[in-house]
Amino acid sequence: MVLSLISSQLFKSLDLSVFRTTSTSKTFKSLLTKLSINNYKPLYSPTYQYPRKMASSQGLFRLTANSPIEDYLQANKEWATSANNEVLKSNAVGQSPHTLWIGCSDSRCSEFALKNLQPGEVFTHRNIANILNNPADPSSRAIIKFAVNVLKVKKILITGHTKCGGASATLQVNNEENYYDTKEVPKELVDWLTPLIDLKFKHKHEFEKLADADEVTKNRKLVELNIKHQVEYVESNQDVKNAIKEGRLEVHGLLYNVDNGLLELIS
Ligand SMILES: [Zn+2]
Repeated sequence: MVLSLISSQLFKSLDLSVFRTTSTSKTFKSLLTKLSINNYKPLYSPTYQYPRKMASSQGLFRLTANSPIEDYLQANKEWATSANNEVLKSNAVGQSPHTLWIGCSDSRCSEFALKNLQPGEVFTHRNIANILNNPADPSSRAIIKFAVNVLKVKKILITGHTKCGGASATLQVNNEENYYDTKEVPKELVDWLTPLIDLKFKHKHEFEKLADADEVTKNRKLVELNIKHQVEYVESNQDVKNAIKEGRLEVHGLLYNVDNGLLELIS
């Protein structure tokens, strides 16, 4: 118990709570591992137990892992009742979003970081680590084409975030010759993260300089590099180029801080 209390306090003070497991011994082991500079335990690993209900266990969320579907429907009914009727009427006719939000799938960050957003304002595309340049992914290309040429959005916001699990998994891949060599990162994730892993190795000298930095710093570095890279990628798209040239589109890269909810302009 004492050990549990000490370790949970340490986790709190070090903001390592994402590494908490249900087992005291695992928690402490994980903490020790985390504190060992050369033996970083990945955020994502087959043995890693995700802290499913941290906020809900503190009563912060209305819906929890135990909520029946009726609770979801009730929550929706209340939302619909309080929604702006004029907005809903307008949405019944069609959509004319002013912005394309491209972000990570992470549950902590989304376009809802923009207060008072109404349905119909933002066209959204989210995936793990906000990657647009995976050659096997037609979805991102279709989203950009549709948003720029059909919806004619005025802004594309590419938003990464601190403490990104996708970036964390990418940082675990150390074999430049074989990305699949890292047992802790499943094949499916490597398939998806390959452009980000490429980017990491492209900037490996910058990461070598950060060898003694903590994982949060390395994670943020990779997330920022990715944001800039994705902005460049989008700006190289011919439809986007045309729209920018015509003065009807801006592309920005943003970083969302999961600790304080604030967005930073990166590019
Ligand atoms: Zn993420």
